[in-house]
Amino acid sequence: MSKIDRQEILDVLDGYDREDITIATLGSHSSLHMFQGAKAEGFRTAVVCEKGREVPYKRFNVADEYIMVDKFSDIVTDEVQDKLRDLNSIVFPHGSFVAYAGLDNIETIFNVPMFGNRDILRWEAERDLERKLMTESGVRIPKKITNPSKIDGTVMVKFPGARGGRGYFVANSTEEFDQKIESMLERKWIEEKDIKNAHMEEYVLGCNYCIHYFFSGLKDEVELLGIDSRYESTIDGLVRVPARDQLDIGVNASYVVTGNHPVVLRESLLPQAFDIGDKITEGAKELVPPGFNGPFCMQTLVNDDLEIVVFEMSARSDGGTNTFMNGSAYSYLYYGEPLSMGRRMALEIKKGIADNRLEEIIT
Ligand code: AMP
Repeated sequence: MSKIDRQEILDVLDGYDREDITIATLGSHSSLHMFQGAKAEGFRTAVVCEKGREVPYKRFNVADEYIMVDKFSDIVTDEVQDKLRDLNSIVFPHGSFVAYAGLDNIETIFNVPMFGNRDILRWEAERDLERKLMTESGVRIPKKITNPSKIDGTVMVKFPGARGGRGYFVANSTEEFDQKIESMLERKWIEEKDIKNAHMEEYVLGCNYCIHYFFSGLKDEVELLGIDSRYESTIDGLVRVPARDQLDIGVNASYVVTGNHPVVLRESLLPQAFDIGDKITEGAKELVPPGFNGPFCMQTLVNDDLEIVVFEMSARSDGGTNTFMNGSAYSYLYYGEPLSMGRRMALEIKKGIADNRLEEIIT
């Protein structure tokens, strides 16, 4: 199926009453602050909600309209798309939206205006494209190991798809790689077909910082809006047992993300953080025009040489933005008041409408 023609989206947008825009997304992931922020900026909000999952939106009172669906993936059906367009909706993408709507559908059949660059979502999902974007942008990433027989240091082994760290493991030799693959198969965390797609990279020993940026297409500038760090089971639980026991318990340590907490970087690292944001947005403009648009996140590890190494990116609002629903230390510096990523997105839409430049930030 062919990609949706940009003109079709612009035609839909053309039919919208710009005084009466709805901000809509799937009720999951990082939607709460998107709705809260949109309402704070005067927009109507619509949640596309799986039946039985409406409680948070009702209890936090962040949604004006409920589009109820049997399953999240129904967001791409003609019926739901019609309802969204009838409400003059602009969709805010996030991780669950991409996962449930599906990349192919977003590119070919989801004919509702979205904030952000829908073409860049694939560059996050496909590891080779992601590495190309980072390498060509000049961002430091972990070195890749091409074959398990070439493991000669500590490596991190990953499998395709966003799994929240599930199935990832560390190996120090080819033998250990083989043995851990067996153990992951036994736990049913991976399947036989995943083995040939195992991705191996340098294990970066350091601390985790997930840096949340916002690229304003209207200002042509990257803002650093917040930083979080991940809590991962079982690796973070291991530090709670004595070192001697870690040797036994830690053999099959895993990296399943279970939560996030807000952090700040030491101030002397901020120039590097801004440099990464600037480089990747410049690279993205070249490779996937118009480049980033709105929220994106660089997931990093900072080693003891104080080098920020990027091991993953989100090309849309990342789940860690939930750590600053009421603002972060950094968003406060820009705006002098608590500002979430969702509210920053709504502000951009509002400015786009006011300056008659909405077309530039919609795909
Ligand atoms: P991801 O699913 O890519 O977000 O990774 C899950 C977790 O695995 C991360 O939060 C890190 O703790 C860890 N991780 C990923 N890549 C590396 C790496 N190259 N070196 C060390 N740890 C890593």
